[in-house]
Formats: sequence, C-alpha cells, structure tokens
Amino acid sequence: MTIPTVTLNDGNDIPQLGYGVFKVPPADTERAVSEALEVGYRHIDTAAVYGNEAGVGAAIASSGLSRGDLYVTTKLWNDRHDGEEPHAAIRESLDKLRLDAVDLYLVHWPTPAADNYVHAWEKMIEIQDAGHTRSIGVSNHLVAHLERIVDATGVVPAVNQIELHPAYQQREITDWAAGKGVKIEAWGPLGQGKYDLFGAEPVASAASAHGKTPAQVVLRWHLQHGFIVFPKSVRRERLEENRDVFDFDLSDAEVAAIDALDSGDGSGRVSAHPDEVH
Ligand code: NAD
Repeated sequence: MTIPTVTLNDGNDIPQLGYGVFKVPPADTERAVSEALEVGYRHIDTAAVYGNEAGVGAAIASSGLSRGDLYVTTKLWNDRHDGEEPHAAIRESLDKLRLDAVDLYLVHWPTPAADNYVHAWEKMIEIQDAGHTRSIGVSNHLVAHLERIVDATGVVPAVNQIELHPAYQQREITDWAAGKGVKIEAWGPLGQGKYDLFGAEPVASAASAHGKTPAQVVLRWHLQHGFIVFPKSVRRERLEENRDVFDFDLSDAEVAAIDALDSGDGSGRVSAHPDEVH
C-alpha cells in the first residue's frame, strides 16, 4: 500500500513513514538503505553526526529512482551553529549525499548552554532561500526554544523532531506544535527497544486483535496521531514489517489505552534531555 504524505506548513509534502539510519554503521549503510528503497521506503532520515550520509548518497545514486520520488532529511550538528558554519555544513552534507538539495534540513539540538540556536535558525532560513533545502525545521527543541526562534525571525519551523513513544509523549510540545501548524516527527518511535513497550497490555492485546506485531501496533498509534515516523532496523524482515502498517486501524479505545501508557512526569524518556546535549 502507498505510504501517505503529510503536508507541511510551507506546502511541501513528506511521506509519513520513512527509514531512519541513526547507528547504522557507515559500512553497512549503502546496503541497508538500498534494501529499504527496495522494500518501498522513499523517505530517509540521516544526520551529519551519524557519519553515514555517504552511504545514503551511494544507495540513492544506485537506486535508479528519480529525485522527485525520494525524500531526504539531514541535520546540522551542534558544533556548527556559529558564524557561517551552517552554510559550510550543508554543502558538505550535500556533497556526501550527492544531491543538489535535501528535502528537509534540521537544527539537530538547540544546545541552549551555547545560546546560539537563534543564530542557527537564521542561517537555516538563508540555506532554504539559497535553495539547498526545500523545508527547514528543528529537532529536540522545547517550547521555550521554539517560541524564541519564531519571535526572533517570524519563521515557524515545518517540523520539530523529538523523542516520542508511548511512555514519553511530550504533550506540552505536541500541543504547542498543533496550535502553530508544526508537524511532529517522533524519533525513537519504538522506544529504541529500551523498555518493554511490546509487552505492555494495550499494545499486546491490540496486536493479537488485529493479527499484527506489537511494533506494527506502536507505529500505527504514531500514524493515527499524525506523527511522522522513521523506525530504524538493519534487518530486511523488520524493514518489511515496519512498512506493513497501512492495512489496519486501531480503534479509538485502543489508541486511548496506548495514550494512557504515558508516564505523565517525563520519566519515560529513554535518551538525552535537550538541556544536557552540547
Ligand atoms: P527506534 O525506536 O526506531 O528503535 C530502533 C530499535 O528498534 C532498533 O534496535 C531495532 O532493532 C528495533 N526494531 C526496529 N524495528 C523493530 C521491529 N519491527 N520489531 C522489534 N524491534 C524492532 O529508535 P531510533 O533508531 O533511535 O529512532 C528512529 C530514527 O529517529 C533514527 O534512526 C534517526 O533517524 C532518528 N533519531 C533522531 C534523533 C534526534 O536527535 N533527532 C535521535 C535518535 C534518533
């Protein structure tokens, strides 16, 4: 089944399901991305700091797919926010990806201790104006960071890519984003395998009710909330499993039961807090 698209606040469309390559070893990236493209993924989420943009670029180049059928995201790393560094960084990323432009370029982390995320956002606007990316957005930005960049520039990011999975739903950010037309990209959509999400009762029971796997139920939950997801795996059978989530619907009650897995106090977070990343 076709992967649906979501329309961003700048009018561009993004496939709602993609393939993320965090921790895919550089030497394995061309093979893994090629398999993802064979399985039907058309949206790849990488980052300069993952060290595997060249592998993504090699897979795209050998895929035979036309550029317009692919959606590629990469991210500006934290040590390149200052001065004209963001311009140099996107040129390097495009070189490795063998592309003239990416579809989406993100500020990877706000690094609030350095207090340079407003400057980084101003540079993202220039990079978009220069045609090096079709859309611009941010990642790991809290509401205070989002409000500050919008106040300073008047430009609202197309997306905020944040850690989000059933135990950690970040509702303050998702509510703010819904009000401003910012789409949420959920990273770590499966909780990075760091807690027993698949054994949680509402996930397990929906899986058996629909004849799907727990991972498919969790991905379906994200999709029904309107989140954009790009689960990571280097195994072809899991790439296929994660792609096969468009032939069933969770009921409102099933969605609500998974909603109730939120820790409520932020303790469900499995990775770094934005204030801790420099
Ligand atoms: P994830 O939640 O996608 O979890 C990946 C883990 O789940 C892997 O260990 C994999 O083996 C396992 N898995 C995948 N499919 C499965 C299945 N069907 N059944 C059972 N286990 C399965 O976590 P992630 O990779 O951290 O997040 C996805 C993507 O988000 C990344 O690849 C990256 O593109 C992006 N990301 C962004 C940031 C950021 O700071 N912006 C941080 C982390 C990840």
